Amino acid sequence: MKKILCTLLVVCLVAACCLALVACKKSKFKLAAKNGDEYTIAASYDDQTHILSAVQTIKMTNRSENSFEAVKLHLYANQYRQDAQNSVVPAVYRAKAYPNGDSWGDIAFDSVKVDGDAVAYTVEGQDCDVLSVPVKGGLFPDKSTTIEMTYQVQLANVHHRLGYNEHTVNLGNWYPVLCHIDNGNYTESPYYNVGDPFVSEVANYTVSMTLPENYILAATGELQEASNKNGFVTYRYRAEAVRDFAMVASTEFTKISQKVGDAQVNYFYYADADCEASLATACGMMEYLNKNVGEYPYKQYNVVETEFCYGGMEYPNLAMITSGSTSYQEAIAHETAHQWFYGVVGNDQIANAWMDEGLSEFVTYLYLDSTGAMPLESSVSSCMQSYVTYVDVLNRFYSNVDRSMRELSGYKSDGEYVIFTYVKGSLMFNSVYETVGANKFWKALGKYYDEACFTVAPSSQMIECFADVCGKETAKIFTAFVEGKEIIGKVSD
Ligand SMILES: [Zn+2]
Repeated sequence: MKKILCTLLVVCLVAACCLALVACKKSKFKLAAKNGDEYTIAASYDDQTHILSAVQTIKMTNRSENSFEAVKLHLYANQYRQDAQNSVVPAVYRAKAYPNGDSWGDIAFDSVKVDGDAVAYTVEGQDCDVLSVPVKGGLFPDKSTTIEMTYQVQLANVHHRLGYNEHTVNLGNWYPVLCHIDNGNYTESPYYNVGDPFVSEVANYTVSMTLPENYILAATGELQEASNKNGFVTYRYRAEAVRDFAMVASTEFTKISQKVGDAQVNYFYYADADCEASLATACGMMEYLNKNVGEYPYKQYNVVETEFCYGGMEYPNLAMITSGSTSYQEAIAHETAHQWFYGVVGNDQIANAWMDEGLSEFVTYLYLDSTGAMPLESSVSSCMQSYVTYVDVLNRFYSNVDRSMRELSGYKSDGEYVIFTYVKGSLMFNSVYETVGANKFWKALGKYYDEACFTVAPSSQMIECFADVCGKETAKIFTAFVEGKEIIGKVSD
């Protein structure tokens, strides 16, 4: 009887702790939404000219300790220009991304106003990819301002984050987004054609999108309203505490849905012959991460089949998955993991891509192992083989091969980025996992997820969470791998 009582007590205590954690995440979500800048965008898409016209306001507050003479915004849409210094894709992917030949896109402004007054904005940055909006008298710490922009985005015919193709219209990184402030300064990092060269704070979005009524739209956030008028449909969404807002439109979409926890999971597809399996993968991965890491805090998650030159691309509440990809289910699991690591917990994807890519990839291996689809040892051994072979080949041609995990500009090719970020990143997390065991691994990730949610977490925060839960030795594993001093297979000093 006592034993039963004790067990009951433990069960009650555990349940109370779990409820407290969920409540904590909800209060952090509310706080992030309360403090977030407000984006309001009314956009319309012309499917004949492939031009997206928009009026956008951002009500923003300077939360840094510095004052600014101008607010800076990324213009990722301008990277699709004909005269851009750098293509959005490396040369080896060009034919895949542009199957119909060269095509160009850009963003052009009609007007930019600050607090109601037109201003002399400039387009600058390394590659005409940053909008500088002067603020009269300067923007001081804790002061707010409202920027209003009217612009057109010309879409290119490209299988990429932003562009139209024969089946879908991809609208990723399409609108001017505030540059991230790091150490009191705007980071105006350019668009690299390896990795996901984006860093952004969470914010709130109200977005309406008008397009011909035969289009179905998948988007970040919750659909508030859909109204038809004169052959056009306008969808209105609200998204809170998200770090980006993406959409995919198609006249060919079919949608199937399922509930996971509090979230509605939708799968939009047009060619997938096994749509139920794809939805099941997304839902299975969500359940796996809800259980092992922490609850998904949003009400919506959309997995979208589309045309893209890589396997997939993550956005908050939305994952683009490349139609016909040979690793389709793995891509769904990987992009779903990004909803936790990139989406809820952000990181500097330019400086430390391994934090979200390596982790999402490794967590995908764990999930595939748990379902019986692929044993963990097989995934790890294939990573090991790829990494060791790659480094061995480099060693044959160069002395002092750099084995460190670098920022995007430090990689000489897309292949090198993939090897060091995904493959070596997975091996790093596997090394931690093997050393500390599953229980502590998940506990440390849960702590990281809870502490860093809705922020842009530095790598030190992730490493400290693991060190706190699993012991200080764990930090040495991370450091050795990041600095290129790890010992893997034949690759050792
Ligand atoms: Zn990824």
